[in-house]
Amino acid sequence: MAKGPIVEMLARNVKFAAGYQAPPGLQEMASGIRGTGKGVVVLSCSDPRLNPYQILGIDPTLKATMVRNAGGRVFDAIRTLSVLQTIGAPGTIAIMHHTDCGMTHFHDDVVQQALIEIAPEEKATIEGMKFGEIKNSIEDSVREDMAMLRASPLITKSTQIVGLAYDIKTGVLTEVTDWPAEKSGL
Ligand SMILES: [Zn+2]
Repeated sequence: MAKGPIVEMLARNVKFAAGYQAPPGLQEMASGIRGTGKGVVVLSCSDPRLNPYQILGIDPTLKATMVRNAGGRVFDAIRTLSVLQTIGAPGTIAIMHHTDCGMTHFHDDVVQQALIEIAPEEKATIEGMKFGEIKNSIEDSVREDMAMLRASPLITKSTQIVGLAYDIKTGVLTEVTDWPAEKSGL
């Protein structure tokens, strides 16, 4: 049996389910959004202090599909983003990184060291892995990820790629523009 805070969460689900109204089926929803260009996917960090639904005012009138991972990094989200392209063909993918992110504090060498302690037999594999560290500004990590997404053959070229920097202290979201073409290396 589960224990800890998840127990209360499961109890709350009972109340949630009691008043639940089922959404449209997947096929109906996807065919309704596909081709309209109105689908929005937001890639953001897993940090529990960050609530993209609140930050963006998402409600039943303004929907978005959420993808979250450590740092909101594109390389870790390509599978999901490409799958979503085949289902709902979103017209916009927004990449949101935030200040005081774990990835700005725990760089790859620290993560690698911690993982090698857990799984020493995987040392070589772990040392060859990237974990999404953010060493410069979050504006630069957003630009890196915008460039990676634009360069991905799995992402439709007509997709609008939007970069966002979120200040976790003020709640302010700022749009990040691409690097000038000569710096992007593309
Ligand atoms: Zn974060």
